[in-house]
Amino acid sequence: MIRSVLKPHLLYTATLLIIFVGCYTVPETGRTSLNFISTGNELQLGASEFEKLKREETISSDPTLNGKLQRVGRRIARAVGSDLPSAQWEFVLFDDPNMINAFALPGGKVGVYTGIMDVATTDDELATVIGHEIAHVTARHGSERMSQGITAALIGLGLNMALDDDKNRDAWVAAYGAGAAYVVTFPFSRKHELEADEIGVIYAARAGFNPEAAIEFWMKMNLVKQGNEPSAFFATHPSDFKRIDRLEALMPKVKPIYEQNKNNR
Ligand SMILES: [Zn+2]
Repeated sequence: MIRSVLKPHLLYTATLLIIFVGCYTVPETGRTSLNFISTGNELQLGASEFEKLKREETISSDPTLNGKLQRVGRRIARAVGSDLPSAQWEFVLFDDPNMINAFALPGGKVGVYTGIMDVATTDDELATVIGHEIAHVTARHGSERMSQGITAALIGLGLNMALDDDKNRDAWVAAYGAGAAYVVTFPFSRKHELEADEIGVIYAARAGFNPEAAIEFWMKMNLVKQGNEPSAFFATHPSDFKRIDRLEALMPKVKPIYEQNKNNR
């Protein structure tokens, strides 16, 4: 009896502690997120994963496409300003025309596949892709997801102990296991996707790229999706009308930023 009273209490304290030590204010949106991975740790994790990918995949040597990626990437990284001072930006073009994909790893490592360059043909459209990926990095979505996964696992562990005598214990534990797996398996949640869109168009506009290209880009992606095999990027980046509606609603906020910066490009 004492055990079942005490243990949830301890668990509650542990959870509070995690939340207390691990809060991060997302730049540009001001959202408070759970994050107890240090920026140094995430930089290390991202960098070692990126090195592995660079060894495994073919890096494109196309001078025009590489020039375009570096040009747009550097401009947007500059527009980030002090949002994530620890970031070490690196942009690599991977050669796979069938891969309509781009990704960002914690700490500032951005990978773009040649396949998505065929969709994002203008600098403004590529700025949509890179702005979005860089936003995942500065919002620290990767380590937020890890923090959530670890917390879910801890809660699962705590429940397992607390519900020792409960017939429903196995069901509870299975539910938390599924919850933890969900958080860890799905690359970014819908909330993270929409937040990356919002922060991404702010960065693009600040770097002097037309934010309206985001709407054109996602509409094109919708058409591409219909004629292609479903890829990881489509699974994690649904280009449905909710995304496009949200971007349209952001235009009155970001177009003045673009007007101010378009001549500095
Ligand atoms: Zn994304």
